[in-house]
Amino acid sequence: MIDDTIAAISTPIGEGGISIIRISGNDAVKIASSIFKAKRNIDLNSVKSHTVHYGFIYDRKNDEIYDEVLVNVMKSPHTYTKEDVVEINCHGGYIPAKRILELVLRNGARLAEPGEFTKRAFLNGRLDISQAEAVIDIIRSKTDLSNKYALMQLKGSVKDKITKIKNDLVALIAHIFALMDFPEEDVELFNDDELIDGINKSISDIDEILKTSEKGRIIREGLNTAIIGKPNVGKSSLLNALLNENRAIVTDIPGTTRDIIEEHLSIKGIPINLIDTAGIRQTDEIVERIGVERSREAIDKADLIMFIFDSSRPLEKDDYDILKLIENKKVLYILNKIDLPSAIDIDEVDKLSGGKYVKLSSFTKEGLDILENTVYNIVMVDGLSHDEFLLTNMRHKDALIKAKENLLSCLRTIESGLTEDFVSIDLNAAIDHLGLITGETANEDLINEIFERFCVGK
Ligand code: GDP
Repeated sequence: MIDDTIAAISTPIGEGGISIIRISGNDAVKIASSIFKAKRNIDLNSVKSHTVHYGFIYDRKNDEIYDEVLVNVMKSPHTYTKEDVVEINCHGGYIPAKRILELVLRNGARLAEPGEFTKRAFLNGRLDISQAEAVIDIIRSKTDLSNKYALMQLKGSVKDKITKIKNDLVALIAHIFALMDFPEEDVELFNDDELIDGINKSISDIDEILKTSEKGRIIREGLNTAIIGKPNVGKSSLLNALLNENRAIVTDIPGTTRDIIEEHLSIKGIPINLIDTAGIRQTDEIVERIGVERSREAIDKADLIMFIFDSSRPLEKDDYDILKLIENKKVLYILNKIDLPSAIDIDEVDKLSGGKYVKLSSFTKEGLDILENTVYNIVMVDGLSHDEFLLTNMRHKDALIKAKENLLSCLRTIESGLTEDFVSIDLNAAIDHLGLITGETANEDLINEIFERFCVGK
């Protein structure tokens, strides 16, 4: 049982319409009531749950009014943390919120750690880990689409699917124990259809989820895209044309590359991390080597390469050298500068691109919409239906792959004629791996690691 009461400023630090100080725990209402002077004679200790009260934050000890506020009182269990929660809405700005928080702390609350409110929601059983992770995904979502999928996860899309597979496996273990209890039935595991079909069914359920994970990763993390081509084909011009229309508002997320500059944009809801090789170029002195050498890093990292041909110049060795570097990558070919007289061998471009390229002018923007549609279609190979499930989190993907390995090993164990005990060991291992996604088998380190990524106040 968690018995201390925590508090933090839950809104961003800085000037704004309002700031919110959130308090959660057994003493939340008591603490709030000790520093609140209602306009009408109201004692917060005796108000109904989920009600809002107007008044002032008041430092009784020094007889000083701190701010004019609205106080929300939400009583356990129907709250964010499942504990008593009070939220003080004060005037936006650093000082009012900071002073009220200090007063709350002086009156018995402890400063919350990053993510501690959500962690309590998890520890108190309101959210599983996948739902808690969805909270941070919602906060950090890069586009409308990313946000939509994070919200589906918060509502339990991942939890439900994983729980279903887990329950199926638990039922199989029960089935094995039943066999052990009635040996006279004389059923051998290797020809026990119920068991083998059950395992295969779970493997195919896992495969169905894994199939969505590439699309899901891109929706959550963004499509790493590099614009590549010899000097002066128009890489920066295309980058700027794309950014001018689609720049996404994202804050820098820790852990992204340091040595390569990334620009973020949204194409039809798909977050795109554009690896800015143009930026790299300016720091390189040996112009000749730029096209080939410095692009290598960007190419390695990219999910998609936009390779640019310059239609106003003949093909050169540089073009071929770079094309060789991207042989094994997914490439979107672009013929740029179509507003200028053509000097390129179009038959050769046809041949090099397999006949698939987008004609473009970064100058007049002609063809930019076609380029955007093409990017969208590349990611959404089979489109995206209204409420299609996507697995967006790569931690979940890793756990599913491990669970699948356990099940495959289980089939081999059955085939080799080992006893029920061995089979149930594999099944239990699979269940444990699935439990990492929902949280039952997550150890403290993993749980802490997940919540450390949150901001204070969430
Ligand atoms: P980078 O070296 O590949 O990044 O190429 P830049 O974007 O710096 O462009 C090289 C030159 O080509 C610049 O003078 C641009 O203004 C010009 N340029 C780029 N795209 C176009 C285009 O579509 N049409 C025309 N006419 N000029 C372009």
